[in-house]
Amino acid sequence: MERCLRGFGLRQPFWLEARSSYPTHPRAPFHKMRPFRVRARARARARARAQARARARTRARARAQAQARAKYSDEWVETPSGALRAWYVCRQTFGGQYAECGTLIPSKLWQRRDQDIASSKQKWYCVCCTTRYRTKYGMLVEVHAKGLSTFMLAEVSNTDAEDVRAMYLERKLAPKDYNDLWAKIDDVKPMKPDDILRPITKNELKITEGVDEGMVSKFLNVKSLEDLPKWDWDQLFSILGPKS
Ligand SMILES: [Zn+2]
Repeated sequence: MERCLRGFGLRQPFWLEARSSYPTHPRAPFHKMRPFRVRARARARARARAQARARARTRARARAQAQARAKYSDEWVETPSGALRAWYVCRQTFGGQYAECGTLIPSKLWQRRDQDIASSKQKWYCVCCTTRYRTKYGMLVEVHAKGLSTFMLAEVSNTDAEDVRAMYLERKLAPKDYNDLWAKIDDVKPMKPDDILRPITKNELKITEGVDEGMVSKFLNVKSLEDLPKWDWDQLFSILGPKS
C-alpha cells in the first residue's frame, strides 16, 4: 500500500480508508482504475442477473405451455391392470326446449377460441351445438379393466389428479418439449362405448373444420346419465396404488 502510493509519488490522504490492495500499474492511477473496474464488474453482474431472469422466464413459459397441453390428454392412466379415460361432455339443455346436446368430444377437438393453447382466457365450444363448455357439465370417466368398461360421471378434475396424469404422460410419451407433447397426445374414444354412446351422423356437426367426426359421439340416452355412478378424482390414487 505504502509502496504503491510511493510509486506515484503520493501519500495516502486522510479521507481514504486503508485498503488491502490497490491497483499498482504505473499508468493506471488507482483513482481512475478502481471505479472503472467496479463499474465493469457491476455491469457484468447485472447482465448475468438479467440473463438468469430471462432463462427463468423462458422455463416458466415452457412449463405453462406444457401444463396447458397436458390437459388435452383424455387418457389419464394406462396400466396392465386397467386404464382410465375421461372426456369433457357438452350437456347444453337449451332451457329444456330441445333435447340435451349430450356430446362427447375428445379434448383436442373442442373448438378453441384462442390460438394460444395456454391462454388464460381460453374457451371451448361444442362442435355439435357451438355452446361454450361450462364446468357444470362435468366429465364422463371410463374405467377399463379386464375387457370391461365402467362409465361414471365426474366433476372436472383437480390439480392433484392432473399431476398424476402429467407424470403418466411424461413416462409414456417422453416429450422433448411442449410442441412435441402436443403432437404426441392422441384423440381417444371410449374403449367399450356401445352401452351408452353412439357415433354421430355427419349432419349433427355444426363445426367441421379440423374435426374427425368418427371421434365424436352422442349419448344414447341423456336421461339415464344421472343414474351413472359418480367418480371421485381421489379414486385415481387407488388405481395407481400398490399392485396386488
Ligand atoms: Zn353441444
